[in-house]
Amino acid sequence: MAKEELECSFCGRKKPETNLLIAGLDAHICDRCIEQAHGIVLEELKQGEARELSSDLMLSKPKKIKSFLDEYVIGQEATKKVMSVAVYNHYKRLLQPKSDDDVEIQKSNIIMVGETGTGKTLIAKTIAKMLNVPLAIVDATVLTEAGYVGEDVEGILTRLLQAADYNLEKAQRGIVFIDEIDKIARKSDNPSITRDVSGEGVQQALLKLLEGTTVNVPPKGGRKHPDQKFVEVDTENILFIAGGAFDGIERNISKRLNMQAVGFSASKGDDQIERTNLLKYIIPKDLKDFGLIPEIIGRLPALTYMNPLDKKTLRAILTEPKNAIVKQYQKLFEMDDIEFDMTEEALDFIVEKAVEYKLGARGLRSLCEAILTDAMFDMPESNQTKLVVDRDYAEDKLNKSTIKKLKAVS
Ligand code: ADP
Repeated sequence: MAKEELECSFCGRKKPETNLLIAGLDAHICDRCIEQAHGIVLEELKQGEARELSSDLMLSKPKKIKSFLDEYVIGQEATKKVMSVAVYNHYKRLLQPKSDDDVEIQKSNIIMVGETGTGKTLIAKTIAKMLNVPLAIVDATVLTEAGYVGEDVEGILTRLLQAADYNLEKAQRGIVFIDEIDKIARKSDNPSITRDVSGEGVQQALLKLLEGTTVNVPPKGGRKHPDQKFVEVDTENILFIAGGAFDGIERNISKRLNMQAVGFSASKGDDQIERTNLLKYIIPKDLKDFGLIPEIIGRLPALTYMNPLDKKTLRAILTEPKNAIVKQYQKLFEMDDIEFDMTEEALDFIVEKAVEYKLGARGLRSLCEAILTDAMFDMPESNQTKLVVDRDYAEDKLNKSTIKKLKAVS
């Protein structure tokens, strides 16, 4: 009797019809079925990831988003509120199933206006942490139009891909924070004869990304090169957050407010305007007068402002946020079994110096470093198990440090 011919237990192909037939316990499988099964596995994994992604995004309500921000960012109530709503709506839009009606929810990209060091980047970072989405932080000053020295705007997406570990799905739902957007303002109102490669041209290029488009992105960055493989990135669901100091924009605001006050009721208008913080009254037109093109402004519909940091806020930044600077030092010292604290007076002193040297919130950390370097250098090998920094200690260490030189710079 002829020996029974082996066949694939899945498709029934006889052994000679296959390239390879692998034997299992009671069955065989051919190369083609392996390939097909592999395809199914990959597809399942991808769908699983997509499901995971959308369950990650099962969004908290705006109030919950705001209270998460509260844990990390002191003050800036107006921005936190605008941000919470914009982020909520953005991800609601993402999770919305495609419907037949014509109501298409547009993106709620955000623009924050405020001095440097007031927490713009921190807010963007905190939102990304909360949503567990990748974040790319880019500086608009390095962007130029394609073909000029500098970075093409596509480079922004390369960064996002990198932040997402090259997971395209994740990158396409990520957040891009464009810092110093004011630096690409149009230099003057009349289009000049010489090309404005780092101004309006860049705004035009950015516009496409903000609108939602598919871009060929060189995954490893650098200039587009004919040999380099591209990844197609769809920016439709990427949330863009822009920030800038817009130095001098208060003048535009003030001029506008004065004109309004004259036009309507001068006395009433004036009484109600808080002159010390004019940014509060910013409207899209002020951005346009500053040199952003109307199309860009239109694509950044959530406009908000940052308050300058006063002493009270700086003081709170030292101790209150979840990863407050003082808490970080406590943790560092704790690793060497050293109990660490600072007296109220020492903290007030640091704030005074930060204000005096015009260092803002960023300076708080440099001041602490200057005060604590000696202790962090000596203590791990000493028998001391406790350090409480008081005002005298802080003053003494600061006097000996070079940070005072910063004063001359500012
Ligand atoms: P910006 O982007 O506005 O220039 P950053 O967000 O980079 O400012 O702020 C610099 C640092 O100052 C942050 O890392 C953070 O430690 C601190 N900081 C600034 N503003 C705040 C704030 N409102 N609450 C808590 N920390 C802040």
